[in-house]
Amino acid sequence: MRIVLASNNKGKLRELGDLLENHSIELIPQGELDIPEAEEDGLSFVENAILKARHACSLSGFPAIADDSGLEVDALKGAPGIHSARYAGVHGDDTANNHKLLEALRNVPNEDRTARFQCVMIFMRHAKDPTPMVCQGSWEGRILREPRGENGFGYDPLFWVPDENATAAELASAVKNAQSHRGKALHKLMRRLTEHG
Ligand code: IMP
Repeated sequence: MRIVLASNNKGKLRELGDLLENHSIELIPQGELDIPEAEEDGLSFVENAILKARHACSLSGFPAIADDSGLEVDALKGAPGIHSARYAGVHGDDTANNHKLLEALRNVPNEDRTARFQCVMIFMRHAKDPTPMVCQGSWEGRILREPRGENGFGYDPLFWVPDENATAAELASAVKNAQSHRGKALHKLMRRLTEHG
C-alpha cells in the first residue's frame, strides 16, 4: 500500500519511518511529492491532524497518514499544546521554544512541573473520506530546569521520563518509540489498519 506521510518535520519523519520499518507499507513523505505544509488553523490536535491528512490526500491522490502532536504542561494550563511547534513565534525553532518554556516555568516548583506529550494520528483513504481513522497516544513526564541529551527533537531534552531516569533526548530511538505518544498512536493505527485489511 502506498501512503503519503503528511509531514515535513525531519524528527517526526525519522521516527515514523523507524516505527513502520517492518510493515508492508510504502510511505512517501509529502515533501517528495512537492506538497507544502498544510495550514494548521484548527483548535484541537484532531482538527489539525485531519486538515494535514486531507491536504496531503487532495494534492497527491493517495491515502495519507498525518499526526498532530504537542506538549501539554499542567502549570501552563495545557500550553503550549497545539501551538507547540511555534510556541516562541517561529515554526520549528526548537531552541527558542525550549528557552521560552524554561522561562515560563522559572518559578514553578519541581513537583508541579508535570506534563505530557499528546499525539493524534489519522489515516484518510481519500480527501473526502467521511470516516477518517483516528488514534491517540500520550506520554507522561516532567519538565526539567535545563536541557539534557542529544537525541530526538523538539522538547525532548527538557522532557524527563521517570521510568527511564532520563530525558526523552537521552533515550535510544527504539526505546523512545516503544513508549512515546507517537509510538502508541501509530501502533493503534497499524493494528486497526491490519484488522480492516
Ligand atoms: P506538529 O508538527 O504541528 O504536530 O508540531 C508538533 C510539535 O510538538 C513539534 O514541533 C515539537 O515542538 C512538539 N513535539 C511533538 N512530538 C514531540 C516529541 O516526540 N518530542 C519533542 N517534541 C515534540
